[in-house]
Amino acid sequence: MIPLEQIDAAIKGQPSYRKAQIYRALFTNTCSSWREATDLPADLRAQLTQSAPLAIDSRFFESEDERSIKALTRLADGNYTETVLMRAGSRNTVCVSTQVGCAMGCVFCASGQNGFTRNLTFEEIVGQVLLFARKLKAEDRVVTNVVFMGIGEPLLNYDNLIAAIRFMNRKDTLDLGVRRFSISTSGISRGIKKLAVEDSLAVNLAISLHSAINEKRAKLMPVDQRTRTGLLAANLKEYFAKTKRKIMIEYVLLEMNTGREDALALRDFINEMGAAYVVNLIPLNENDGSNHKSPDRRDLYDFKELLTELKINHVQRHSFGTDIAAACGQLAGRTDASPARTRNAR
Ligand code: SAH
Ligand code: SF4
Repeated sequence: MIPLEQIDAAIKGQPSYRKAQIYRALFTNTCSSWREATDLPADLRAQLTQSAPLAIDSRFFESEDERSIKALTRLADGNYTETVLMRAGSRNTVCVSTQVGCAMGCVFCASGQNGFTRNLTFEEIVGQVLLFARKLKAEDRVVTNVVFMGIGEPLLNYDNLIAAIRFMNRKDTLDLGVRRFSISTSGISRGIKKLAVEDSLAVNLAISLHSAINEKRAKLMPVDQRTRTGLLAANLKEYFAKTKRKIMIEYVLLEMNTGREDALALRDFINEMGAAYVVNLIPLNENDGSNHKSPDRRDLYDFKELLTELKINHVQRHSFGTDIAAACGQLAGRTDASPARTRNAR
């Protein structure tokens, strides 16, 4: 999606300041065509237009309240990926996908329904952020945060994920500080351990827990049945000890995980983890494949009361973009994934 290799090939033998000029055009001025890169010589622009085109093949869908925009992007091999921009005050957060499809098969999530196709490349990951950096530039705004909470399990595409973060962190690209990145994982133990010892990369980590009871968690997230919650708590403890970043515990609200025993198990998990944390309660977003139910209002009220009583630090997250199927668990990368209410933004 961003032709970095082709660019390198095109400027081979050119003076060394060329690369800096090109990166300024790409990332500071967010040019979407080489025609706009007017400080480059005309013959180089013509060559780059041929060998390293900048266009990204996306369709945009804007939510009715205009706070979120979903991009459906066609990749070079004909697969599709989805990316979401969420705006809140001065924050412009891009929610990025890391795989085409997802192998984890969480029963309530649209991304997992059709299985796994392939990892996204480093360029395809960075390209999703650049796509919205271009869009925001027209409004004189910039991307402020990047969350890896789109389609796919980020820690199963580890090398490309880390390469993309390190790249976007560079001063000559998007200059996004490491704390501007958040990774959400379904709990890949090996990946969390590796991430904890990455040099100078204390990014925010979110764990999709959804239940602190092993049997229930295995039903909700059937692929990785071996990862016991005890091991996860130990991994997160280590992550916190190394990075000092507060752990976000994601907890989708279902009928089956909001009883008394669930709250008590959550408290035990948190005690075992021994880290700064916040529990993010996520309302279940409906999608075609899921037959799971939200708790009724009374039960949800009782559950939250119990969390308060147990002194469990929790918030309920606002769901962005439900009307354009752009919220948690609704992304599927299908060209027919957009409901009737969606309007094509541009
Ligand atoms: N694959 C990563 C990132 C995914 S999405 C992960 O699972 O962590 C971000 C959050 O949305 C995850 O916690 C995920 O479990 C949750 N989610 C998935 N489907 C959902 C749905 N239908 N409703 C609400 N949240 C959902
Ligand atoms: Fe994959 Fe995350 Fe969806 Fe589970 S919730 S299927 S890990 S994208």
